[in-house]
Amino acid sequence: MSAPNKSYDPVEVEALKPEEIERMRDEALAAFAAAADLQQLQEAKTAHTGGTSPLALANREIGALPPQAKAEAGKRVGQARGAVNKALAVRQSELEAERDARVLVEESVDVTLPYDRTPPGARHPLTTFMERVADVFVAMGYEIAEGPEAEAEWFNFDALNFTPDHPARQMQDTFFVQGPQGGDAADESGSGIVLRTHTSPVQVRALLARELPVYVVCPGRVYRTDELDATHTPVFHQIELLAVDEGLTMSDLKGTLDHMVQSLFGPDMKTRLRPNYFPFTEPSAEMDMLCYVCKGASVGNPDRPCRTCSSEGWIELGGCGMVNPRVLIACGVDPEKYSGFAFGFGIERMLMFRHNIEDMRDMVEADVRFTRPFGMEI
Ligand SMILES: [Zn+2]
Repeated sequence: MSAPNKSYDPVEVEALKPEEIERMRDEALAAFAAAADLQQLQEAKTAHTGGTSPLALANREIGALPPQAKAEAGKRVGQARGAVNKALAVRQSELEAERDARVLVEESVDVTLPYDRTPPGARHPLTTFMERVADVFVAMGYEIAEGPEAEAEWFNFDALNFTPDHPARQMQDTFFVQGPQGGDAADESGSGIVLRTHTSPVQVRALLARELPVYVVCPGRVYRTDELDATHTPVFHQIELLAVDEGLTMSDLKGTLDHMVQSLFGPDMKTRLRPNYFPFTEPSAEMDMLCYVCKGASVGNPDRPCRTCSSEGWIELGGCGMVNPRVLIACGVDPEKYSGFAFGFGIERMLMFRHNIEDMRDMVEADVRFTRPFGMEI
């Protein structure tokens, strides 16, 4: 047996010399300091603290040293690795802080910048709603009829059986544009000009211009000398219906009204008629529709009040009736052979009910904050 070969025990290893350890440490510190971002630091970390880094390899050599040298070398390598890890942590937090600051700047949003997306335009809800109402009748075979807004007084009043002293002709209701131009004022040719106070003159024009039978719906803008307030506007919209044919009766009128409110407000809607007077219809009626919110359930029921109909169960809609034979005669229609019905109502008022709009001025003032919730229907 041979004795242990002590000459193989290294007393000194090149990689563990103090100047070598110092060089490895300084290289690591320099690499960390040179790392410009977290990616480069990660690479430097792998190179200088990983399992195959010079300091890790040197550490492995320690085990082969004699005890005294082992302790010294262990201390040197341990101190160097401690310094390297500390420098790495410092540089890591520096670079993370830099990155966070940069991200805050790069990804910031200036909420005070002007809104740069232009919304698509849309027509006013009054216009789209008026068309929707007209469409109900177009679907039944009616035609759209239109007429001038600056209208001959004869069409606006005389032909509709308004006598010359009728209160609606007075200055407080009507915008007069031009006085009578000589001739006979009770005749179309010498008539003055007014801004039409209703869409009914279009009925007269339709009867004069079209072959019988006539089924027309007349949507349009009308004018009255009202102050603008929560429930009045001097310019508003009406839609008017006229049917003239052989054998038409009040029951045709009632069925048409019921169909309209069912189309606009739902299948369980209905209307009722109350006697009234208009010069151009005989008999005449005020038409109400069932309150579309409470369906009449609020009447006499204090536990369930309804704001929409003031707990009356019905909402006043407009006027209607059978066309006055005098109007038919003025339009050259034989009242012995033909009869007709007509009705009209205000679009603003119906839109207010339909959408719980409380102030009519909102519909006039062109503020997009009012129109936007109606959507982008064009
Ligand atoms: Zn109600």
